[in-house]
Amino acid sequence: RQERFAALKDKPSVTLDGVEITLLHNSGLLADLSAIEETGAAGIGLFRTELQFMIASKLPRLPEQVELYGQAMDLAGDRPIVFRLLDIGGDKVVPYLRSASEENPAMGWRSLRLGLDRPALLRTQIRALLQAANGRPLDILVPMVTDCREFIEARQMVNVEMQRLRNTKYAAPSSLRVGAMIEVPSLLFELDQLLPLTDYVSIGSNDLVQFLTAADRANSRVARRYDAISPPRLRAFKHIADAARRHNKPLTMCGELAGRPIEALALMAVGIERLSMAASSVGQIKELVLSLDLMQLRSQLSEALDNDLGNLDTREFLYALADRQ
Ligand code: PEP
Ligand code: MG
Repeated sequence: RQERFAALKDKPSVTLDGVEITLLHNSGLLADLSAIEETGAAGIGLFRTELQFMIASKLPRLPEQVELYGQAMDLAGDRPIVFRLLDIGGDKVVPYLRSASEENPAMGWRSLRLGLDRPALLRTQIRALLQAANGRPLDILVPMVTDCREFIEARQMVNVEMQRLRNTKYAAPSSLRVGAMIEVPSLLFELDQLLPLTDYVSIGSNDLVQFLTAADRANSRVARRYDAISPPRLRAFKHIADAARRHNKPLTMCGELAGRPIEALALMAVGIERLSMAASSVGQIKELVLSLDLMQLRSQLSEALDNDLGNLDTREFLYALADRQ
């Protein structure tokens, strides 16, 4: 199988009916980044910057951050790389940073909430990203956005650091894009307001599904209880894909779903055309892309979702359609 996938690495990722599907990696350490040469992915759709903080014994300082981000950019080369701002808390524990124990850490003082309340941390990180880019393109992704105001605040911090950069020896990034992660359900009802404020958006399905189903992603008793691609979740994804298309903003799915074949099929069928996944999944998803007649699948699934009386088994439905293709 690995050999079969390797043979696909330089083939364009396009469906039989000509839809281009962008396949990207999730990453967070340099080791998994170098795999990009072997998988032929188009870039890094999600670089989890908190990993550096999680494996350190004390807070990484500005120069250490600059060094890691610079090396990551070097390894990515000409391919785009999306740096997610610190997503600490919940399942991502950084012992030296958090003290108070919380009843519901996943819904607690975490991620962007912590970042906005402790602005020194985020400011330093944004400064490090700008210095590491030093004239190269820079893509910043804001995690756990709960409403537009938070995104505006985060973007404002980026603007302030951009101003500051003018007084230093570092060149401004050749392009700067700031995107929002969609992983808190409330944002689904604020997309028409949020999207114009962003350069792109990315769905974090791990958290979005956790919050949509009120099922802890880290609790094995409930984590898999509700199918992430059953009709209500697919309608939620489709709602986001439709809104992103309306506003002409790039949309990526960067949660674990994107790397599993039947789930990836469902995502493409609801209109998501950029998928970011573990490096080891790229080959099999590429093989799937190359075998698909996507537009037909899209209209069939859309009709099935519209006519569903509450008993549609999307998995079975998609398997049957894929078999027939
Ligand atoms: C997600 O929530 O789906 C996501 C991509 O981020 P993480 O898994 O790091 O929370
Ligand atoms: Mg998340």
